[in-house]
Amino acid sequence: MSRIAILAREVANLIAAGEVIERPAAVVKELVENSIDAGASHIDVAFKGNGLELIRVRDNGYGMTQEEALLALHRHATSKISSAADLSAIHSLGFRGEALTSIAAVARLEILTSPADAVAGTLIKVDGGGSPMVETRGAPTGTLITVRDLFFNTPARKKYLKSPRTEASHIVEAVIRLALSHSEVSFNLTRDSRTVFTTTGRGGLGDVIATIFGREVHGELVPLEARSEIVNISGFIGRPTLTRSNRSLQYFMVNNRYVRNPTLVGGVESGYHRLLMTNRYPVVFLNLEIDPEEIDVNVHPTKLEVRFSQERDIRRALHFSVADTLGRHNLIPGMEPKFSPRTRPPAPTAGIKPVLKPLQGSGPKGKVRESSPGIFPPVATFTPRKGEGEYLPADVAASLEDREPNPTFPDLKPLGQVYNSYIIAQGEAGLFLLDQHAAHERILFEDLRRIKGDKGGQDSQNLLVPLTLELSPNEWEMLGQNLPVLRSLGFRIAEFGPRGLIVHSMPTIIPPGKEKDILFQVLGELEEGGDKRPLDELREAIIIVLSCHSAIKAGKRLGQEEMVALMAQLGHTKNPFTCPHGRPTVIHISAGELEKRFKRRQ
Ligand code: ADP
Ligand code: MG
Repeated sequence: MSRIAILAREVANLIAAGEVIERPAAVVKELVENSIDAGASHIDVAFKGNGLELIRVRDNGYGMTQEEALLALHRHATSKISSAADLSAIHSLGFRGEALTSIAAVARLEILTSPADAVAGTLIKVDGGGSPMVETRGAPTGTLITVRDLFFNTPARKKYLKSPRTEASHIVEAVIRLALSHSEVSFNLTRDSRTVFTTTGRGGLGDVIATIFGREVHGELVPLEARSEIVNISGFIGRPTLTRSNRSLQYFMVNNRYVRNPTLVGGVESGYHRLLMTNRYPVVFLNLEIDPEEIDVNVHPTKLEVRFSQERDIRRALHFSVADTLGRHNLIPGMEPKFSPRTRPPAPTAGIKPVLKPLQGSGPKGKVRESSPGIFPPVATFTPRKGEGEYLPADVAASLEDREPNPTFPDLKPLGQVYNSYIIAQGEAGLFLLDQHAAHERILFEDLRRIKGDKGGQDSQNLLVPLTLELSPNEWEMLGQNLPVLRSLGFRIAEFGPRGLIVHSMPTIIPPGKEKDILFQVLGELEEGGDKRPLDELREAIIIVLSCHSAIKAGKRLGQEEMVALMAQLGHTKNPFTCPHGRPTVIHISAGELEKRFKRRQ
C-alpha cells in the first residue's frame, strides 16, 4: 500500500472538472449561468463546430474587478454564498464556485471583464490550469469569456465525445433551456458565425417558445397558471393533439432553473388523464416557483437534478392544474370557436373563461357571407328548462336542477342514432355527432367527482346479496391503505376472514351484475400506482374505472327521451368535450362546412 497524500491542486481541479465539464455544452451552460447570475440582460453565445475549438460568451452584467477575476479562478471561490446556511436556500444559478476553475483546468481560458465604474478592465489568460497571465485592458462593462482547445490536455475525455453534430445540438439545447428559464434575458446564439436563434428578452416565455420552436408548436399550447400554498406554476401546456414520441419537449423550470425530475413528469402526465395514446408524450413548458428552502439543488455537480421536500404536494398541484387547464379549454380537435354558445348564457362559473365566440359575422377567416345564416332554416333548438317533463325525464330534470348549463356547449336536438353508437344531432351551428359511451362516461365521471367526503352512503346501494371475495396479500395490503377513498365513493366493505372481504354496498351507478368485475378493476387501480400516488389522484383513477364500466355501451339502442336526457346531462358537465380518457365526446361539422361540401359556396 502506498502512503496517503493530499492531491496536488492541479490534479484535484482536473478531477472536479471531470464532473462539472463533461462535454462542450457544459462549458456553455456554466458560462451563461454566470452571466445570468451577474445580472446580464443580453448574452451572446458563439461556438465553432462541436465546441472544442472555440466557445465564447459575452454578457453585459456586473463584470469583475481584477482582484475578483483572479479570485474567481480558485476552486470554491464564489460570490454567491458564504455560509453553510446559505446552501439551504439557493437563489442563484451557481454557488459551488468550481466552474471557472474547472474550465481553466481543461482548456485555454481568456477572461476580459470590467465592472461599470472602472477606469480599465482586466484580461486574464490561463492555459490548462497553469498560472494566470494578467493584463490591464480597456473593456466594455460586463464579461467576455473565451474558451479554446477544450480538453487539449485530457485526451481521454475527447474520446467520449459524440459526433460534432451531436455535441453541437447539446450546446444548442443548453442555450434553449437557459433562454426558456430566463425569458427576460435576450439571447443570441451563433454557430460558425451563423445565427441559430435570437430572443428579444421582452416577450415572455410564450415569445421565446414561438421563436425557438415555431409558431406551429406555439399555436397548439394553452397557458397554465396555478397557485397553491407551496408552489406557483405558470407556463404553457400542449393540447392533447400536440405530442412527441419522447419527452424532449417537456421543459420544467424550478425557480428559473431548468431541471429534470420524475415527480414533475409524473404529475403532468397523470394530469393528462390518459388523454394521450401510449408512447406519446405531452409538450410542456412550466416554471414552478417554490420556496428555495423546500428544494435541494445540491444533489449533483451539474445541478440538473433537484429534490423537493414536499414531493407529493407538488405532484398533486401539477396533476390538478394540468387537468383543470385542459378541462377549461374546448378540446374538440380542430374546431374551437366555431359554434355558437347557448343563447342565454348563464353566469360563467368562476375561473372559466368563455372561449367561444358567436358564429355570426366572423369565422376565423372573417368571411362568412351575409346571407349564409339564411341558407338554413332556423333550427328549433332544445333547451332543457326546469319542469319541462315533456322533454326530460323527471329524475334527470331533478338531478340537473342544482347545476348550471355549460355555456360552451351548444343547444342540440337529437335526430337519431347511427350504428346504435353515435347520436346524430342538429344545432344552430351545424351537425353534431356524439359518441354515446364517451358522453355518458363524462357525465358519470363528473357525477362521481361531486360526491364529497364520507357522504358516499347517499349515492350507494345495498347489494341484495353481499359480495364476498378473497384477495392476494398485495391486494389486501393496498385495500387496507386506501379504504377511506373507497368509502368516500360509496363502497361499504368489511373484513371477512384473514384475507377475505365482504362488500355490502357499492356506488349506485354500477349496473347490476358488474359488481365483481368492477371491484377487481378498482383493486388493480389501487395496485398500479403503489403507495406513491396521492389519495385524490387515486380517487380520480377509481372514478374513471367506475364511469367507464358503468356507462352505456356502444351498440345499445337509445330512445328519443334517453338521447335528449344524455345531451342535457352532457351540457351540464364542466368539460363536455372529452371523456375522462381524453377521447372526444362530440364531433362537429359546421354549417359552413356542409355548404362547402355541397358546393353551395366556395
Ligand atoms: P459559481 O458560479 O458557483 O459562484 P464559478 O466558478 O462559476 O462559481 O464563478 C466564480 C465566481 O466568478 C462567481 O461567483 C462570480 O462572482 C464570478 N463570475 C463568474 N463569471 C462571471 C460573469 N460573467 N460576470 C461577473 N462575475 C462572474
Ligand atoms: Mg457558476
